[in-house]
Amino acid sequence: MLDTSYQISLAFAKQMDEKDELRKYRSQFHLPLQKNGEPYIYLCGNSLGLQPKSTRSALEQELEDWKNLGVEGHFHAKNPWMPYHEFLTEAMAKVVGAKPSEVVVMNTLTVNLHLMMVSFYQPKGKRTKILIEADAFPSDKYAAQSQIRFHGLDPKDCLIELKARKGEVCLQHEDIQQVIEEHGDEIALILLGNTNYYTGQYFNMKKISAWGHAKGCKVGFDCAHGAGNMPLNLHDSGCDFAVWCNYKYLNAGPGSMGGVFVHERHHHDKTLPRLEGWWGHNKATRFKMRDAFDPIPTAEAWQMSNPPILAMAAVWSSLKLFDEVGMNKLRTKAISLTGYLEFLVKSLGEDVINIITPADPKLRGSQLSIQVKNADKTLFDKITKAGVIADWREPDVIRVAPVAMYNSFEDVFRFYSVLKDNLGLKD
Ligand SMILES: *Cc1c(COP(=O)(O)O)cnc(C)c1O
Repeated sequence: MLDTSYQISLAFAKQMDEKDELRKYRSQFHLPLQKNGEPYIYLCGNSLGLQPKSTRSALEQELEDWKNLGVEGHFHAKNPWMPYHEFLTEAMAKVVGAKPSEVVVMNTLTVNLHLMMVSFYQPKGKRTKILIEADAFPSDKYAAQSQIRFHGLDPKDCLIELKARKGEVCLQHEDIQQVIEEHGDEIALILLGNTNYYTGQYFNMKKISAWGHAKGCKVGFDCAHGAGNMPLNLHDSGCDFAVWCNYKYLNAGPGSMGGVFVHERHHHDKTLPRLEGWWGHNKATRFKMRDAFDPIPTAEAWQMSNPPILAMAAVWSSLKLFDEVGMNKLRTKAISLTGYLEFLVKSLGEDVINIITPADPKLRGSQLSIQVKNADKTLFDKITKAGVIADWREPDVIRVAPVAMYNSFEDVFRFYSVLKDNLGLKD
């Protein structure tokens, strides 16, 4: 959908920025600077989000309390470490559209994916398979394959890969539905990225969960590229579990902790297999250290260790910003910002570029994956030199994600100008 009210000019982009009610948030982030002192045009928040300026003092608070209080910080720190993870839960739940009891921040993404598969991938009888995207993020595929082998099965027999139609890059929902219809009674787990990392395509989690559940499959989503990017409504989607990282759109820092959603329908199921540790145990009796494992009847039951407070402080400081702005406002701006990017890039002509991300804003988040015809990495190196930080995927795709929290319409326009200049196109 091309918005014809957009204009190809820096003045127009600046006007859009003036009207942007979220524009003040840009100044709350550190923008990486080029050698000339100008900020980079940073369009890589889908890979690593920028540092909120508030994060340093959040970390310093915990260092200070550790310095002054030692072990007493568990109870007497400004933000006591014992219940620390609970401080994050409500804001995290709002970001992903879940009940607070369904969400916990813990571990890292691939670790959490494994922990969820321990509970929700239970091959039995003829139901042994995992349905996954053919171009799933490699870590997700390795996790799925190794879980299959862990159960003594062979990934060659037990992994069903969803492939796009011939000549297409994105999957069609009706094709996903058809595979579930045809193979559903052999599928133990449907595991999809809710927004594909490569194409930027968004999948309808509610529909896929309903199709899967109707066939008796468990359904989980990797929301690494969805969390903080668009509202996810995880509870309402009905999926069994979801996992995500907090360092992409959620700005919690390199390798930061991940998040987990477990639908409340599973919270009281004591037959569910799970890898357990003391932090998942009933908080009232955790320190008696004797009782048999008594799981907290929330997603917290999947916690194993007492959490890394320094890492968690960075997640919390970022979540405070999301809590203040809210996903709906971010999404409204994101649709407009990415729409502007699409409008500008499309003006370069179909013989030069092809956007492989779906054109329907409902089927994508902030990211556009732009295929540049007859280009190679030298083009990408040139735009990098000209001050753009984006992401290159061989053989010819630039992934660009203007992020509503801190990117501007001017960023988008400047990216377009740099791309155009380096394609050697003339007005
Ligand atoms: C970013 C990303 C990962 C990275 O996993 P880590 O465990 O955080 O290193 C995995 N899967 C998907 C879909 C991703 O987008």
